[in-house]
Amino acid sequence: MSAEQPQAVVRRGTNLDRVGGFNDTVVLDAIRRAEQRLSRVELAAATGLSGQAISNITRRLLDAGLVREAGRQKSAGLGKPRTLLELEPTGQYAVGVHLDPAVVTVVLLDLTGQVIARRRAQTPAADGPDVLIAGIAATVEDVIAEAGVPRQRVVGVGIAAPGPIDVDRGVVVDPPNLTAWHLVPLRDALRDRTGLPVLLDKDVTAAASAEKWAGGPNGRGSFVFFYLGTGIGAGLVIGDEVVRGSSSNVGEIGHVIVDPEGPLCFCGRRGCVGESSRPRYLVQQAVDAGVVARGIDLDDRHAVDVAFTALCTAATGGPGAAREIVTALAERIAKVVEDIANLLDLERVVFGGPHWDRLAPFFGDAIRETLEERFLVRSVHPFTVTGTALGADVGAVGAASLVLDHTFSPNPSVLLLGPASESAPSGSRASSALSR
Ligand SMILES: [Zn+2]
Repeated sequence: MSAEQPQAVVRRGTNLDRVGGFNDTVVLDAIRRAEQRLSRVELAAATGLSGQAISNITRRLLDAGLVREAGRQKSAGLGKPRTLLELEPTGQYAVGVHLDPAVVTVVLLDLTGQVIARRRAQTPAADGPDVLIAGIAATVEDVIAEAGVPRQRVVGVGIAAPGPIDVDRGVVVDPPNLTAWHLVPLRDALRDRTGLPVLLDKDVTAAASAEKWAGGPNGRGSFVFFYLGTGIGAGLVIGDEVVRGSSSNVGEIGHVIVDPEGPLCFCGRRGCVGESSRPRYLVQQAVDAGVVARGIDLDDRHAVDVAFTALCTAATGGPGAAREIVTALAERIAKVVEDIANLLDLERVVFGGPHWDRLAPFFGDAIRETLEERFLVRSVHPFTVTGTALGADVGAVGAASLVLDHTFSPNPSVLLLGPASESAPSGSRASSALSR
């Protein structure tokens, strides 16, 4: 469907049953996942559908504005050159929101997963959920307006939020670093304010999904995405599939004890990896070691963040107290990575999150050295330590990519998302995950 057609007709393109059903999503997914453009012949081979079926389906996808023809490929022998197909970037868009206790990031992705607009703002520490949700809704509108895309082509909004979450009800349960939040129905509140379908998922699951879709070689196979932010967490991709766990709350590693002498955690124990990774604790150590000036207010999140940056900068300068503090942090985190990697026989750890840029200069080597000695399967395959190429947007990009996944993946449960979802069994995860 082209933009010139009436709005009602354009909107039909977002409903998969009207695009043509399961086989259409299979073909669209094959085009989306391919690393290069595919011809109809290659699509038939990849999907097991007949040449005639592929011809009909690609015609519908072209008409719907979801794919486009892009060049020709000489065929082997005497056949006609084959026309290649690729996604039409402007076919559909998805919004991604990453709610971190310190910063809210909102991005707009096109159908190919490229970020075409972004906004980032500090999370107001004192505000309750209502004020923050109103702010997020306004930012969603700003990002759509800034990009100048037709609103009816925005398929939905994905929110990446700190766990634990109740995915079925779209509720943020008790995020440890957002004290005013308790059982907040974030998904439905944002749906009511924007009028768009909304999906809520965990921040680390979103980040792992972003890495899988847009991370290049980092995103293949089996890896853990290790999130370093106000909290820490782990997203998992095993055998190219994002692992969710029984309630989509996979990756709660914050209370793994890595230092029995460490700081007291709110859970009542000492030396949990989450608590001993917090900038507040690291800045306290830096003050004690004389790296950061005394007198800093450790309850002032902004001041702590500035001091944390100063600590990281000092650590890159060479050996000394600052370097020791950060290396000890790397060793504590390496212990957790080691356990996850050995437990699940992973190939890679990908680090990311708001703190990664500051820790990356020395962190990678420290973790690599520690793991070199301890990764048990190293004689069978290597284990690599790397950082995300997606930068600080990774959570928001992931949230938007989950919307594209839910909308365009050929997983049959996802087809419930169209109008048919209203009559779907209420227990269905997909129908309840994306709130219309
Ligand atoms: Zn704890």
